[in-house]
Amino acid sequence: MKCRQYIFLLTSDQLPDAGPGLRLQARWHHLICSNCRVFTKKDAALMQAVKAQCQADKAVLIPPYIS
Ligand SMILES: [Zn+2]
Repeated sequence: MKCRQYIFLLTSDQLPDAGPGLRLQARWHHLICSNCRVFTKKDAALMQAVKAQCQADKAVLIPPYIS
């Protein structure tokens, strides 16, 4: 598996639904490729920050007494 394919599977959220062979290839690639390990870690941190910001925005836009 090449970095491009790994990154596509990861960022398109297709990895959990990929077949066992493809998931194994992705796992192997993650083990041997330091660049993709760093990208995976940063992508997860970014997604967590986006979720936190969405929760904060939701709290501001929708006051609790309305729901
Ligand atoms: Zn890679």
